[in-house]
Amino acid sequence: MLALQAVTPAALADAVPEVTLAEARKIIAQVHRGEPVAASSAVRRTAAAAVQAVGHVPVLEIVSEVASAIDPFVKYLCESEPRGDRFETVRIPLEDQGRFTVCVSSQVGCALACTFCATGRLGLARNLAAWEIVEQVRVVRARLPRGRVHGVVFQGMGEPLANLDAVLDSIAVMTEPCALGIDARAITVCTAGLPVGIRRLAREAPNVRLGLSLSSAIAANRRKVMPIADRHDLDDVIEAVAEHAQLTGHAPMWALTLLDGVNDSDADALALVERARAFAATTGKRPRISIVAYNAIGGDDPYRRSAREAAFRAVLAAAQVASHRRYSGGSDVGAACGQLAAT
Ligand code: SF4
Repeated sequence: MLALQAVTPAALADAVPEVTLAEARKIIAQVHRGEPVAASSAVRRTAAAAVQAVGHVPVLEIVSEVASAIDPFVKYLCESEPRGDRFETVRIPLEDQGRFTVCVSSQVGCALACTFCATGRLGLARNLAAWEIVEQVRVVRARLPRGRVHGVVFQGMGEPLANLDAVLDSIAVMTEPCALGIDARAITVCTAGLPVGIRRLAREAPNVRLGLSLSSAIAANRRKVMPIADRHDLDDVIEAVAEHAQLTGHAPMWALTLLDGVNDSDADALALVERARAFAATTGKRPRISIVAYNAIGGDDPYRRSAREAAFRAVLAAAQVASHRRYSGGSDVGAACGQLAAT
């Protein structure tokens, strides 16, 4: 069966020859308004019947919905039938009141095993289907008391570029005006650094933004916390990110989770200055540097939050390299960056 919430009108018209593109637009709009597929003045009875015969709208079970007591973050534990795999979604409030970003998962677990990330401890169970990604946004939207979903970040469980077919399909639906109608520039795909995927994302979804989990601009320090760095040299990753910036015109976000005594030294900060300057010289775009405070991941937690964040950022500022501190909320309910573990 075709998951109707995860197809664009063009894909529906392709898959169901009885349906015209104009009818497909009306049908997809019905689906995203939560209405049954039905004939109307703009949809012939034969077209509606053909879609009903091949399509359905599968649902995610929301196992739990937990609101943070310290900020307006909400974490949803989702389960997909029939396999029973669980994954998490986070509703992130934006500074503009009534606007929210949805942090979506793209995989159940993750194979990349970044050592500062709870998801990385789980290993990879499977990729999510496009409908399971789209449905996370619909779940959050349906539960908003007021306001609207303004953007999406692929920063939940999983490496989105390792499930790129489904991620691209979901982005096509998110940005489709008669589906979720989200501005592509308000969507960010965050990666641990897969060069082939970065280049494909630039070609096939040039309006969405790219985030790179950098960890350290010193390759040896990056390898200590991100095993994927053994497979993809940092220079190659940065080269792919530069190509992305040149092709799309978007400056990338570089994220660094500062870990005490691991990647928070002045040498790490100075290496970041050099990388950022070289990147700007090559691409004409300054990377947006996002400093993330480490959030405890429980168990035999190997790290402590860095006490050198201010000193690290001062080194950047002295070199005229701007950075900002990411507000990573929901830590009391395991919803903050690095904490998602489907619990
Ligand atoms: S940080 Fe991202 S890529 Fe790394 S283990 Fe966690 S989910 Fe996977």
